[in-house]
Parts: sequence; C-alpha cells; structure tokens
Amino acid sequence: MSPEPVLAVTDLDVHYRRRQGRLHALRGVSLSVAPGETVGVIGETGSGKSTLARAVVGLVRPSAGRITVAGAEVTAFRARQWRALRRRGIVQYVFQDPLRSLDPDLTVEESLAEPLLIQGRPRREAVERVRAYLARVRLDEELLSRLPGELSGGQRQRVTIARALVTEPRVVILDEPVSALDAANRVKALELLTSLRDAGTALVFISHDLGSVAGVADRIAVLYRGEIVEDGPARAVVNTPRHAYTRLLVGSAPTLRSARADRASRRRLRALLRTEEGIRHDV
Ligand code: ADP
Ligand code: MG
Repeated sequence: MSPEPVLAVTDLDVHYRRRQGRLHALRGVSLSVAPGETVGVIGETGSGKSTLARAVVGLVRPSAGRITVAGAEVTAFRARQWRALRRRGIVQYVFQDPLRSLDPDLTVEESLAEPLLIQGRPRREAVERVRAYLARVRLDEELLSRLPGELSGGQRQRVTIARALVTEPRVVILDEPVSALDAANRVKALELLTSLRDAGTALVFISHDLGSVAGVADRIAVLYRGEIVEDGPARAVVNTPRHAYTRLLVGSAPTLRSARADRASRRRLRALLRTEEGIRHDV
C-alpha cells in the first residue's frame, strides 16, 4: 500500500468572476503527492498552474472538489484557519515573483527567522537554524544583514527557497521558482532543488518549461486549459507522452529535443491545432 499522501487534490474546480463572465480556470483537477515525492506540474501560461498552487494554500477558493493537507481536510477552511495552517509551516508556497515573497523591509536574517519565531521556537534555536539553512542554499553569512533590494535575483530566490524550507514543511509548492533567473542561476537553483529533495519534504514544482522539471521530478502532471491531461512517472511522460499536448511540450523543450522529435512534434502541433480551437494563451 502506498503511504497516505501529504497533499491530495480531488476533482477540484475553480471559477474566476470577471467582467466578461466566469472563467473556468480549473476543471476536475486531481493530484496526489506522497511524502518526500517531487511532482512536476507543467503547462503553458494561462493553463491554471498558479491557480492550482494558490488553491492548495487557501488563497483561491475552489467552487468544487476536495483538498487535504497532511491528512487534514482543508477545503472548507476559513481564512483564519488557513493562516494558522500556513503558520504551522506544514505547507509553504514560493511565489512566482521572488520580490513578492520577501518583505522588502526585513533583512535576510529576519526574513528567515520570522516563520520560526511565529511557530514559537526559541530565539537561539531560530538563529542557529537560519544559519544552517543559509548554508544549505549555499549563501554566505555576510548576506544575513542585507535587505532583499541589496541581493541579486539569484540570491533573492535562494533566500525565498530557504525561507520556505526553514520550518521543515511536509510539502512546498514552488511556482515557477526558476523562471525569473538567468540561465546560469537557473541551473544552480535546479541543482539546489535536487539536493533539497533528499530532506524528506515533498515538492510540487510548477513550471511552463518541461526541460526544467524533467530532471528534478519523480512524477509529472501536465495541465492543459485547466485540466490534467497526463500524470505519470517523469521518465514515462518525457519518453512516451500519451497526450498530444504533452508531445508538443516534449518537442519544444530545447534540452530534450532531437531532430526527429522536432518533426514529429510539428506534425502533432498541426494536428492539434486542427482538432481543437488552438492553444489558449493568457487572456
Ligand atoms: P498559469 O499560472 O498557468 O499561467 P493562472 O492560474 O495564473 O495560469 O491563470 C489561469 C487562468 O485564469 C488564466 O486565463 C488567467 O488569466 C485567469 N486568472 C488568473 N487569476 C485570475 C484572477 N484573479 N481573476 C480572473 N482571472 C484570473
Ligand atoms: Mg503562473
């Protein structure tokens, strides 16, 4: 029997109210994450990735479906209960925009210590742990007294990741954690995530780029227009994608591409565009 999932999303629907009417952003999405597992969620811009992440941490209210975090049914939680859950540090969320994840007026040390102090840990333990996590994300202690505005983009994102992990959460949702970084920093951040996987924390790694996720994830779920169209072991999804849209993603990931796959994916793209109204872009 597989262990109880640390995160389970079942038949989740999310609607947004907009001036032009309601937008059905997620349709019947189910996703299960086992303890310590790294699950990649991929899909293009507008497919609903951030909506899923935000629903899982209580920032978006689903219109249907169920969410359980570490065995607790949280779907009907009120804002106050969500805040309490987040404070307990069981589930953490790294925002797409690293600038939004950090308070501009807190130093690196204060930012990292804050979630520990909120948890009620003694100051001395918090300070020690902050230093340990700074080392784990391979940042120098001299950065402790800096403000986010005094860090490079890559350093800032490492601080954000350290902050999410410092409470040793059961599950961390990383929403496009490397998209804002340049190529060199992206590679470093991916290496970092790979090394952190071993700590027993489950990661949900969201990206529009299959190439970034393929090397890190145990499993990959493919989100297309608000629906999970494929979910399987990472290797199977990359090597033998079943859904036309996944084949398209595999074909367009530069690091995975071969000339043959290129030709095949162009053919499939054309077929896909003929059979559906086209791939929706962010509206
Ligand atoms: P992704 O993260 O995959 O780019 P999102 O989850 O951000 O996708 O968005 C999914 C769809 O929902 C998009 O069409 C987007 O424009 C729409 N959307 C996202 N947030 C809101 C919101 N707060 N209000 C209305 N529509 C939204
Ligand atoms: Mg997004």
